[in-house]
Amino acid sequence: MYSNDNLSFRKSAICSKCGKPLHYKGLGEYECSCGNIEYDDYGAVRAFLETCPGADITTTSKMTGVSKEAIRDMVKNGQFTFHSNK
Ligand SMILES: [Zn+2]
Repeated sequence: MYSNDNLSFRKSAICSKCGKPLHYKGLGEYECSCGNIEYDDYGAVRAFLETCPGADITTTSKMTGVSKEAIRDMVKNGQFTFHSNK
C-alpha cells in the first residue's frame, strides 16, 4: 500500500543552490534567477525519459528517486506511457 510520502509530490519552492524562490516554468521544471533548474517528481521522470526513452518503471524509479507508485499514478493520469508495466 501507499505510504504518505509517496502520495504527495515533491514540490521545489526554494533553490537548493542559492536559496532564492524558484519560479515554475511548466512541465515539472522550476528555474531560479541564478540559472539553476530543479524538477519535481513529474519533471524528474520526464527529464529522465527524455535521455533514456524506453526505460521501464523500475529503472525510472531507481534513477529518479521517484517511487514506482508515484510513477504508476502518472501513467494512470496519462502523463507518461511505458512499454512494460514492470
Ligand atoms: Zn538559485
